[in-house]
Amino acid sequence: MFKISTPKPPSYSLMASKTEIQIQPDPPPPPNSGDPRAIYARAIRTHSADRSLHNHLITLCSKSTPSSFPLRLFSQISIPNVVSWTALISSQSNTLAALRHFISMLRHPTSPNQRTFATLFKTCASLSFLSFGLSLHSLSLKLGLSSEPYSGSALIHFYSKCGMPVYARKVLDEIPQRDRDAVCYGAAIVGLAQNSRPIDALSAFADMKCRDVASSMYTVSGALRAAAELAALEQCRIIHTHVVVMGLDGNVVVGTSLLDAYGKSGMVCDARQVFDESNSLGGSLVGCNAMLAAYAQQGDKDSALELFYKMEGRGLVPDEYSFLAILMCLGNAGLVLETDWWLKRMKADYGLEPVLEHYTCLVGAMGRAGQLEDAERAAMTIPIAPDAAVWRTLLTCAAYHKSPDLARSMAKRLLEIDPQDDSAYVIVANVLSSAGKWDEVAEVRMMMKDRRVKKEGGRSWIEVRGEVHVFLAGDRRHQRIDEIYAKVAELMEGIEKLGYVPLPNEMLHGVGEQEKKEALWYHSEKLAVAFGVVSAPPGKPLRIVKNLRICRDCHEAFKYMCWLLEREIIVRDVNRYHIFSNGRCNCGEMW
Ligand code: ZN
Ligand code: ZN
Repeated sequence: MFKISTPKPPSYSLMASKTEIQIQPDPPPPPNSGDPRAIYARAIRTHSADRSLHNHLITLCSKSTPSSFPLRLFSQISIPNVVSWTALISSQSNTLAALRHFISMLRHPTSPNQRTFATLFKTCASLSFLSFGLSLHSLSLKLGLSSEPYSGSALIHFYSKCGMPVYARKVLDEIPQRDRDAVCYGAAIVGLAQNSRPIDALSAFADMKCRDVASSMYTVSGALRAAAELAALEQCRIIHTHVVVMGLDGNVVVGTSLLDAYGKSGMVCDARQVFDESNSLGGSLVGCNAMLAAYAQQGDKDSALELFYKMEGRGLVPDEYSFLAILMCLGNAGLVLETDWWLKRMKADYGLEPVLEHYTCLVGAMGRAGQLEDAERAAMTIPIAPDAAVWRTLLTCAAYHKSPDLARSMAKRLLEIDPQDDSAYVIVANVLSSAGKWDEVAEVRMMMKDRRVKKEGGRSWIEVRGEVHVFLAGDRRHQRIDEIYAKVAELMEGIEKLGYVPLPNEMLHGVGEQEKKEALWYHSEKLAVAFGVVSAPPGKPLRIVKNLRICRDCHEAFKYMCWLLEREIIVRDVNRYHIFSNGRCNCGEMW
């Protein structure tokens, strides 16, 4: 049988002595054997029972023939070997039949090799068969095949697909360093990035570069996705240089990821430069959509519209994503008529049926424009059942326009969907308190307490010299924490002199004055800004990312801080970009 140069499995009873039939490895397939029909015809003519020919034929036929055909060919092999079995399993990969064939193979019995496992892991990933995949992992581990590069990459993919990034990372670490190739790294980097493990993804990418493994378009776009999630601009620039050096800059997938990463890092000009310099992005719908999304995130409707018309001029057919970007720009600007017109145009000119996200933009436009009743009516009458995002949009608008009635009913709807939705309680309590409805505020607080609602921990980070520093509220773990706390105190005292007044936080009712103040001082985003001030090169904007909405107090404080520090503070929160300069924010208090 095929000897695989792996450590001998300790003791494995399934692989009984019957498998030790001495079969020579298959010779390479005959030359000029491209057309499966020709090979099959020859096999029939010569009554050939040549196994390697049949194995080859199964592999060739699998994609284009009925599923029974590979099985028929397989049954003609008198002594199928691991290659025959693997070919049969591959011919029906991503179906239950592949797993059934594997069980027959073990009964036969024949030892699987790393290619067999690779196919099976891919099948379990696509069918989301977690438990079968775990059993396969155990078996491959016993056979010493889980750390082979081919099966290992598929296993990493399987764990990533099942939302288990820690296991995926562990499998990568178990593959011997000399065997880790671009495929292994690609599976790990993409998997970690897709599972919101951007820091781990970037560290795997750095590890890969250290070991001189050549990048592929997968590794690079995975790393860019991670950098985009962190809005880690310096990482984007480092990867960009690497892309150029590796000659991957002409690739559409890489170009789109690069553009997207710059856009999500708030550098629309850099995104545009990538777009303009590429030969392929401007002519591709994905490229244009990525550029439109970057404009939408900044709320730059003029540039978005200009690009949209250019796209149409070039004969590109916009899709629902192109329209969504336009509608988001218009909706965020509160332009009701325009939003409505573009929503109709989508269907009239391109036959595209709007989905809930498109309608949400219209509801948001009305709400932002202060037409609260119309917005609520629109939400009730759109052809698709509204989801939490629609109610949240209305709640935000109610908060901005200080409408306790709408806020109350929207919070009620949100809490029906998720009683643990902490932001719904906080926003409605703030609206009620600014309307002086103290009894109701107390009621909301009680409800939160009764239902044991926990506020999701705020997390903010800042990238300094290519390194990402993460802060939680009241965090004391950073090595320079004393310096950071001293800087926060200095900044807060400084802005108080400029006229900043801490915003009342009704959720902290009944807490002592000093505690109340400090609860505001050491918010994660303020710690990140203070760290930026003590460590980042002076002059350049401070760029912070937060996992939640920026809080009202920090928003207020940063307007003064950018003034005090004479530098821009850019915050990307979960909804949008806030650019603080000269004492104001570009969001116009609406977020
Ligand atoms: Zn805050
Ligand atoms: Zn803002």
